[in-house]
Order: sequence, then structure tokens, then C-alpha cells
Amino acid sequence: MPAEVDVIIIGAGVVGLAIAAEVSQFNKNVFVFEKNRTFGLETSSHNSEVIHAGMYYPENSFKAKFCVRGNKLLYEICRKFNINHKKLGKLIVAADDVESKEVDRLYRQGIKNGVAGLRILARDDIKRLEPNVNIVAALLSPSTGVIDSYNLLRCFYGRAKENGAEFIFNTEVIGIERKNGTYRVDIRDDEGISSVTAKVVINAAGLFSDRIAQSAGIDPVKAGYRLHYCKGQYFSLDPGVGHLVRRLVYPVPEQAGVGIHITLSVDGSVRLGPDTKYVDKIEYTVNENDKADFYRAAHRYLPSIAPDDLAPDFAGVRPKLQGLGEGFRDYVIRDESDKGLPGLINLIGIESPGLTASPAIAEYVAGLTSEALN
Ligand SMILES: Cc1cc2nc3c(=O)[nH]c(=O)nc-3n(C[C@H](O)[C@H](O)[C@H](O)COP(=O)(O)OP(=O)(O)OC[C@H]3O[C@@H](n4cnc5c(N)ncnc54)[C@H](O)[C@@H]3O)c2cc1C
Repeated sequence: MPAEVDVIIIGAGVVGLAIAAEVSQFNKNVFVFEKNRTFGLETSSHNSEVIHAGMYYPENSFKAKFCVRGNKLLYEICRKFNINHKKLGKLIVAADDVESKEVDRLYRQGIKNGVAGLRILARDDIKRLEPNVNIVAALLSPSTGVIDSYNLLRCFYGRAKENGAEFIFNTEVIGIERKNGTYRVDIRDDEGISSVTAKVVINAAGLFSDRIAQSAGIDPVKAGYRLHYCKGQYFSLDPGVGHLVRRLVYPVPEQAGVGIHITLSVDGSVRLGPDTKYVDKIEYTVNENDKADFYRAAHRYLPSIAPDDLAPDFAGVRPKLQGLGEGFRDYVIRDESDKGLPGLINLIGIESPGLTASPAIAEYVAGLTSEALN
């Protein structure tokens, strides 16, 4: 590993990998540091694998823009690189009149955000599409789908490597210091602590991105970068009842998440989740006692399931800027020039729809990187 490089990316989740694939197209001196033994072992492999459409987020927010663009780019990438995916479509369902109003609001928001093909369906249309779902109205989003996320990550990894980017695994970034117009990045690996100098540092460290920003001298509380961990658990649905739906079925969203929904994966398995629980620690156990809540949530719109159809599956942890009870927070994606740190690009709070948005975020960050290098 050379002592001086152009670009260091911290983190090989879907976002770091997508950025590596994009930036390495125009710069051959890109190094990715990942603390785990390989890529994608954290949030990028603990999610619903849904290609979102983009109707949940305020107009012109990064979440809205990058989700809508990412949706288009992901389908192109899937086709070009042969990644398993299914454009199943999704229903956001209303079980009563109050929820119907929320469905209408999401429809209008989706139209403003440029989501294609949205349609409000009445009870009869819904019965034709999803005979087992019992609801009064629904929003149909035809461009929502599911993807084999492991193969998406592998695709970004392979493209970055082909372009000459280097991946250094089992190596944790422990400090960043601006010195003489560049950054000294301290790393810890099996051989101890050493440092590398870089012109541009991209912080794509997911659940740890606020700490990385702090290690570069940014006060996370003052900057509004402090992350809150919000766990999401999943229960699998017995294959015998999995056939009850043909599309993804979501309730109207709740405060911190999109609500316990029914997801079909590309391999045909069906699961319920994720729920939302703010936690102090990152850990991935599923609490069997929560089964009753999942059953109640899904039974409202899928009355033919029974509690025994559910089994604990897996969990993920969201890196949220929004604390419990707080309002919408957008992604932080910025070059920190105004904090005296030009060429430090922070990505903080990259929760859902981060998988969908990853190729669009990568385009944007490649632009920031190119400006910082020139
Ligand atoms: C329950 C759940 C469901 C979701 N569902 C969806 C969905 O259906 N669709 C969708 O679009 N999005 C979804 N998301 C969001 C999506 O999974 C994330 O936005 C995305 O995976 C974030 O990727 P990332 O690369 O930023 O983070 P990560 O995947 O967490 O990667 C960050 C990497 O940085 C590394 N790292 C951290 N600190 C250091 C350090 N100091 N040194 C070196 N390496 C470091 C970590 O080891 C990790 O590999 C979901 C998220 C959750 C939790």
C-alpha cells in the first residue's frame, strides 16, 4: 500500500462499493478500507432488498431524488450485469378511511417526486390483483421491486476492482487529521497502527459514520450528525401461506419506518417486517416474544394467516439521524469545506432507501470527489 493516495473510501457496504465503482472510472488511485473480513456484512446485508420507488420522502430531498434516480439505475444495472431481480410492484394499503387519506397523500407526494406509474385503486381493483388482501383502498406502485442484494454488492465490488480500485479488508480507520492540505488517515490492522495520506476521504462507514466524522474533528452534536440506532426485526412467513400475495404489501408508514410489510424475495421466500425499535447497541437477535405484534400488524390486511405461520428470521439496524419522536431527517452527503475540511466527504444517516439510492448517491459523490481533486 503506497504512503500517499488520491482517494480513501471508508466502508465497503453498498454505498462505499457503489462509490468505489463510480470514482474508479476516472481515478485509478482509489483505496477502500473495510474493518470486516469482506464487503457488505453490516446494514447492506440486513435489509428488505426492496427497490423502492420514492413516494415517502419530501420533494427535492436527497432521499427523494436519489431514490427515484437509483430505482431507474438499479433496473438498468440488473439488466446489464444479469443480477437477479423482480419488478413485482407494491401496494400501500389502507384498512380504514383515515389510512385512505394517507394513501392519497403518498400518491400526491410520489407524483411530485417524479415516481412513475402510481395509481390509486379501489376495493374492486384490489380484489382482482390481490384476492386475499382485505382493505378499502390502496396505492399501486408498479416500479417497486426486489433485488438479490448480495449480487448487487458483488457487481459493484467487481467493477471497482476491474477499474483498479484496491480493497483493504480487516482494516479499521481510527483517526483522520487534516495536515498540509491533505488527510492523514490512521488505520489499525493485524500488524498494528499505521497511517496513509489521502487528498480525498469519503466517509461511507454506515452505523459508524458519525464517529468517523468526529475523529476528523467535527462535533457530531453541533453538526447534527449524531446517529440513533433503530433495529428492525423480520419474521418469515410459512411457504404454505406465502402464495397469498403476489406483490409487496405495505401498510401506510409509521413514524420511524415504512411499517411492518410483506416482502417477497427474489428466491420466492416471504417475510414480514421490519418493525422499529430504538436501541443502544448494535445486535441482530430476533425476539420471539414480538411475534404477536407482527401477527396483529399483518392480520389486519391478510386475515387468513395464523400465528403459527410466523417464525423469527433476522434483524437489521438503521443508522438514523432522526431520534425517537423527531421529524423527517434527510441524508447528510457533503464535502466539509465550510468546516475547514475540504475533500472530506461525509455520508451520514444512510438508512432506507440507501440500497436503492446507492448508484445515484455514487454519481453525486463522484461529482464532489472530482471537484475536490481538481
Ligand atoms: C431493517 C432495514 C431494512 C432496509 N430495507 C431497505 C430496502 O428494502 N431497500 C433499500 O433501498 N434500503 C433498505 N435499507 C437501507 C439500506 O440497507 C442501507 O441504507 C444501506 O445498506 C446502507 O449502506 P452503507 O454502505 O451506507 O452501510 P453499511 O452496509 O453498514 O456499510 C458500512 C461499512 O463501513 C464499515 N466501517 C464502519 N466503520 C469503519 C471503520 N472505522 N473502518 C473501516 N470500515 C468501517 C462497516 O464495517 C460496513 O461494512 C434497510 C435498512 C434496514 C436496517
